[in-house]
Amino acid sequence: MDKVKASPHTDKLAKCEECGIVITGDVAALQCDCCENSEAWKCAKCLGMSADLYQELMNTETSKWFCRECHTRTTGASPD
Ligand SMILES: [Zn+2]
Ligand SMILES: [Zn+2]
Repeated sequence: MDKVKASPHTDKLAKCEECGIVITGDVAALQCDCCENSEAWKCAKCLGMSADLYQELMNTETSKWFCRECHTRTTGASPD
């Protein structure tokens, strides 16, 4: 599962939705498993993950992360 990849079909840079860091191959980050939007990323730092935990997650098929928008949509919580 290769989560860190540049999207060739968009001019937009993948960025962490929290800190705005540009997601390159050197940045550990998760992309939203729902919308896979170029802006729906969160870096490991903002996720509070260590590099080890991140690697572990990459090897776990069941690991999912959803961006704010999708999380709101899937949980049915009303946006504040
Ligand atoms: Zn971040
Ligand atoms: Zn999303």
